[in-house]
This record gives sequence, structure tokens and C-alpha cells, in this order.
Amino acid sequence: MVTTAIPYVNGNPHLGHAIDYLLADALSRYHSILGENVRFLTGTDEHGSKIYKKSLESGKDIQDFVDEKAAVFQKFITDLGVEYTSNIRTSSEKHKNLCQKIWQKLNDHIYQGRYEGWYCEGCEGYISQKEYDDNGGICPDHQKPYEKLAEDNYYLRMADFKDKIKTAIENDGLLILPNKRKKEFLNLLADIPDVSISRPKDKVMWGVSVPDDDSQVMYVWIDALSNYLTQIGYPDENIEGIWPPDVQIVGKDILRFHAGIWPAMLLGLGLELPKVLLTHGFVTVDGQKMSKSIGNVVDPYEVINKHGCEAFRHYFLRHASTTEDADFSWDKFEASYLELANVIGNLVQRLANLCMKNDIDGRKKATDLDLDFMVMMNECDLSHAFDYAWEKAQKINKRIDEEKPWAVLKEDENAGKKLLAELADEVMKMALHVKPFLPETSNKIEAIFGTDKISVPEAPLFPKD
Ligand SMILES: [Zn+2]
Repeated sequence: MVTTAIPYVNGNPHLGHAIDYLLADALSRYHSILGENVRFLTGTDEHGSKIYKKSLESGKDIQDFVDEKAAVFQKFITDLGVEYTSNIRTSSEKHKNLCQKIWQKLNDHIYQGRYEGWYCEGCEGYISQKEYDDNGGICPDHQKPYEKLAEDNYYLRMADFKDKIKTAIENDGLLILPNKRKKEFLNLLADIPDVSISRPKDKVMWGVSVPDDDSQVMYVWIDALSNYLTQIGYPDENIEGIWPPDVQIVGKDILRFHAGIWPAMLLGLGLELPKVLLTHGFVTVDGQKMSKSIGNVVDPYEVINKHGCEAFRHYFLRHASTTEDADFSWDKFEASYLELANVIGNLVQRLANLCMKNDIDGRKKATDLDLDFMVMMNECDLSHAFDYAWEKAQKINKRIDEEKPWAVLKEDENAGKKLLAELADEVMKMALHVKPFLPETSNKIEAIFGTDKISVPEAPLFPKD
């Protein structure tokens, strides 16, 4: 089972969301190739005052507003060529109902308290005195002064779980990738305070009510993080054999919640912790953070529409590191598209052409992945695994250049045909290894070389304008 974080639907999908989906999709497809019955969970986070405000600004009914936003995200996932098995919306009755049951199961670790301190409306987050001092009382992301807040909240007692979480992370029972993030988080964990998990209903009207206390609404964590459980029907349904997730994909900004509050919830529920938290970075543009004020925000659709979603996937899964910030520039993107056309597109075109002219029979699809490739995939080192698959295409191109099948055919027709069949088999292997990353391309290649008589595709895989 692999999961993505669930995006907060107060805005439109951006490049960062795409990274989450693509990493999960590549892992999910890889495990499907291995014959596993993969679950791929995703969804949308639809509660909170920010969303409520946006709906008021738009003049729409709040439920209509989130319905529309959720549909935009679902379309985005599909437009990336991503195939999930389950997609939950936190505003659904199923989620709200199960989420309240989860809260009740955690009752022993929840207490009533009073929050007095700083808050940023834009961040929808509590601000520590240290953060307040560091930022001179003004939120750097929203350019607004922090507000003073004094209100009753429910708290989750982190002290009940801290030691167990620390041990699980230290001995990699809960493996945080990459390793540097594990170290960063362990430093944070030492001082992790109890967590406020509700807010007064008169401040936040749009959310899941706290069970047995109508004056309070769940604040972010129990609502959002529960999605990984409510999707599979917990606690109403038996999740044995399904739980825990093998890999949960998170951005570096939300790792601390997934490595802190989330394991605390699971320990409180008596459930196993996820095996791996795979942490990725942000998307930068020309080396800079994307921001409206700099004016360098790139709309993912602009990129997808340029050369299709396979070119998008190639760029972000191969040329962006799996765990560091992924830098985008139009120049690099165009260069990476040319690479696709020149390496894979060209290989398919010229080899299919030679096979067609020489009447080569269709080949069987490859089924076995190389061990080296599997090691990388199992370690979630996706960009290097993609490189490995890519090198297969380069090697076949090189063999064609060096072994010159056309010359062999002239001298010895049988030897020439044998060579072409062998090269076509290699292409089938390459197609299998690129399948987690470029599923559509892989399927096309398998169709071209897998029919009775190999023939040249009607249109090149990656046309150049
Ligand atoms: Zn803020």
C-alpha cells in the first residue's frame, strides 16, 4: 500500500502536488509488475477556515465549492497518467463518521486545555514564541502580524508516545527517507509539545465536530491524518492484511506531522506504524522558490500541454532528484524532451522500421526485472532506477550503431534477422523497466513490437515540432 498526502483544496494543483502523485504512481506500478495487489490511496483535505473563507469570497455554497475543487484535483491526477485505487474526500460522510470514531478511540490520550499564544490565520497554524521572535511578530509567508489567541482546545498528549516514536525512528522500524530528514526530525522530536487538535466552532465552522462536544471542531490533524485509515474503512472494517502502509509519500514541510502526530495517533489506536516515510522536496523554478510576488509560478498544465504527460513524468521522475528540491526550467524541460525523442523515440522508430522491412515476428513482452533495478526501486531511489532503465535504451542504440544490422543482413540474412529479433527483445526489456515511469510509452512500445508482424508506428512517439 502506498499513499500520497492529501492536498488542501484552497487553491489549484501546483507542481509540488504532481511530485507526490508521480512518486506514488511509479512505486505502485512497480509493485504491480511484481504481481502484488497494490493499493494506492489519495484524496483531498477539504475542511478549515481558509477554505470556508475562499468559498465566501467566491459566493458559492461551501459544499459546492469543495466539490468543484475536489473534481479539479481528481482530473489533475488523471491528467498526469496516474492510476490510484482509492480517493477519499474529508468532507464525505464516510470520512467524518469514521474520523469521529477514531477520536473516541484516542480519548485516553486527549485532554481539555487552553491555548494562549500566537496564531497565523493565513497559515492556519499556531506559532511558538520562538517563531514569533524570529520573525519579528510578522508571518513571512503572509506578511501579516500574528494574532494573539486565547481559547479552549483539546490536546493530544504527545508525552504518551514520544519514547516509542523515537525508538521506531532510530531503529528504522519507521524508516524516514532520506536519512538527513530522519536526523532533522529526531532533533525536533525531543521538544515536541502536546498538540492542539480542536478549535472552537465559532472560530472554525467548517470541519468535523468533536464527538460529545458540539462547541468544538477538529483542527487539522485527527481529521486530515485519519484519511489513511478511513479510506480503508477503519475502524468499522477489519484492516488486517492491509495495514500498515509500505510507503507514505510526504513533502518535506509536512514530514514533522507524519513522523510525530501521525505515529502518535497510530500508537494510541494500537496500530502498526507505516514502514517508510518517503520525503521529497519542493519544486523550484530556475533555482528560486516559486512565489506570486516573484512572478515565477509555473502552472503544471502549461508543462503538460507542451509535450504531453509522459514528457512531464520523464522530467520530474528522472531529472529531478527523488528526495531533494526539484528544479524546473523551460530550457531544461525542452532539453529533456529532446532526449526522449532522440533516445527512446528514435530507437523505437528505427528498429521497428528495420524489423518491418525484414519481416521479423512480434516478440513476447518481457516479464523479469533486473535485480539491480529492483534494489533501487525497493529503496525508493526512483530517479536512479529510471536512469538505469534509460541506460538500457542507450545501450540498444549503441548496439545498433556498432553492430549495423543492415550490413549483417547483406552478408548473412539469417544472422541479420536473428540480430534484429534479439534487439527487439532488448527493447521489450527496456519497455518493462520504464513502465513505472512512462506507462503509456511502455504500453505503446509493447504494442509495436508485440504484434504478429512488427511495424512502424503511425506517428513517432515523441514528435519534434
Ligand atoms: Zn502565515
